[in-house]
Parts: sequence; structure tokens; C-alpha cells
Amino acid sequence: MKIAIASGKGGTGKTTLSTNLALFLSEKQAVILTDLDVEEPNSGLFINGKLIHQEDKFKMIPSWKKENCTLCGNCQKVCNFNAIIKLGKRIMTFPELCHSCFACSELCPTKSLPMIPQKMGELKHFSLENLDFIESKLDIGQEQAVPLIAKTLDYIDQKFGNNIIKLFDAPPGTSCPVIEATKDADFIILVTEPTPFGLHDLKLAVDTMKALKKNFAVVINRFGIGNNGVIDYCKSEEVKILAKLPNYRHIAELYSRGESIYQHIPIFKTELQKIADHIIKLQTGVAK
Ligand code: SF4
Ligand code: SF4
Repeated sequence: MKIAIASGKGGTGKTTLSTNLALFLSEKQAVILTDLDVEEPNSGLFINGKLIHQEDKFKMIPSWKKENCTLCGNCQKVCNFNAIIKLGKRIMTFPELCHSCFACSELCPTKSLPMIPQKMGELKHFSLENLDFIESKLDIGQEQAVPLIAKTLDYIDQKFGNNIIKLFDAPPGTSCPVIEATKDADFIILVTEPTPFGLHDLKLAVDTMKALKKNFAVVINRFGIGNNGVIDYCKSEEVKILAKLPNYRHIAELYSRGESIYQHIPIFKTELQKIADHIIKLQTGVAK
């Protein structure tokens, strides 16, 4: 079962929930946690696993061969991302903008744009008792998170079967990287905080999940600050609230030291158990 943990904005506690839920669930069963926030992954700060595998990840980009090029301009016309342009008697490519769609290469009448690999980042695989932790990170200067997220998801699919819980710490926001990170998930947990900012971004995230026709629910982090706006909104939209994680100074202290929270704060563990119970219901088909 694939469960993505997402949020409409950064800083809501997505990584706190992902890492604590992964460690908590792994006390009873095998769990995979994957950090798909490839621009700035930080789940690894809380998981002290042993590095068991590391590999560079590549994306394919067009490489111009001028010998047979007729300067017809087809390549520029078919690229939706302005990643290739005709400039005088030259064809220029911008690998940072390229989405590796192969269109220019396939449609070049003279085969003057063969696709070649370019390194975009690296993937690391750590192991800790019942928990496998995978983290991918974009190289400095690389702008496209989607291809690395896609390659990381391929790695998970090839490495692990379907009868295991796979948690995905998705990037924040509602743009392409989030869509890529959540599109194959069976269930999405949207993490928010009970503030006007949290509500604003939660609405965007809920609209995105509805557009994707995803099964999702909400976890409220830092419960106790702000107001009732998030609860009222979830009621009006009939969105299930799975858990309410408290707002204690001790939690911030544990987080700042990279320590797990549920092992020190009983109410946090109780709320995690509610999420775990829902996951079990989803696995057994009792919950939708
Ligand atoms: S499509 Fe091929 S032949 Fe035409 S301009 Fe581009 S590289 Fe040259
Ligand atoms: S592979 Fe696709 S995205 Fe990349 S330059 Fe060619 S057409 Fe543009």
C-alpha cells in the first residue's frame, strides 16, 4: 500500500509526521519511507539507518549534432518547455528546462538530436531493522524535480512488493512535483496547521486531491494554536480528520535534536495510533 504525506505548504510538519509514523509502524511491521522532497530532503536527519546502497540518477537530454541538421526548426516548435531553440545557425539546448519527453529527438527528420544521459542527482538507500529509508537529492543547479521523483518511484517499485507499507514524504505545494509524488498513491495524508495560512493552503491541496480523484484525509499539526477554521472547513467539505498532533514546546526541542517524538510524548503516540488504525482499515478494505 502506497501512502503519500503531503501539504499545501512547507513547514506544516510533513517530515515530522512521515518520520515518526514510519518509525512507529516499523515497530510492528516492515515499512518503506521515501523522501521525495528531492530539492531539500531532510527526513534522513531523523532516521539513523545504515547506508546499504547509493547510485547516481540520470535524465535523458537531447544533444545536437550539427552535421545533418537542416535548421528546419521542428525541434523548437515541439518543445513545450522552451528547452531547445534555434538561434541563427545553431540549435541550443537548456538541459535544466528539459523534461526528457523525447519529442524533439523523435521528430527530428535528420536524427540530429540523439538523447544522452545527464546526471541530475543521487539516490541513497538506508536500512534500520524493520525500516528501509530511501532518499533522493537533486544536484546543485538542477531545476527539474519530477524526473528524479519518477526515477526514485521506479526504484521503489522494482525493489519492493505491493504487500508492504510504503510511505512517501512528498514535496510541499500543489505543483508538478507533488502530482508526480502522489499520483500512484492509494491514500494521501494532508498535513496542515490550524491557522489562516494553513487553511488557505489546505484548500489548495484538497482541490488538487479532488481533481486527481484521490482518497485522502487530514492530519492537523500544532493543534491548539490558531483557530477552528480548518476543523470547520473539513466538516463542510466532509473531509476526515485522522489525528490532531499537539503543539508542545517539548516537541520543537525533540525535533531540533533530530529525535523521534512519539517515544517521548504519549499523546503524540496516541494520535499516531489513530492514523495506524486507519491504515489497517484501508489495508483490510474496511475503510475507504
Ligand atoms: S528538428 Fe532536427 S533538423 Fe530540424 S532544426 Fe532541429 S535538430 Fe535540426
Ligand atoms: S526532450 Fe522534450 S523537453 Fe527536452 S528539449 Fe526535447 S522536446 Fe523539449
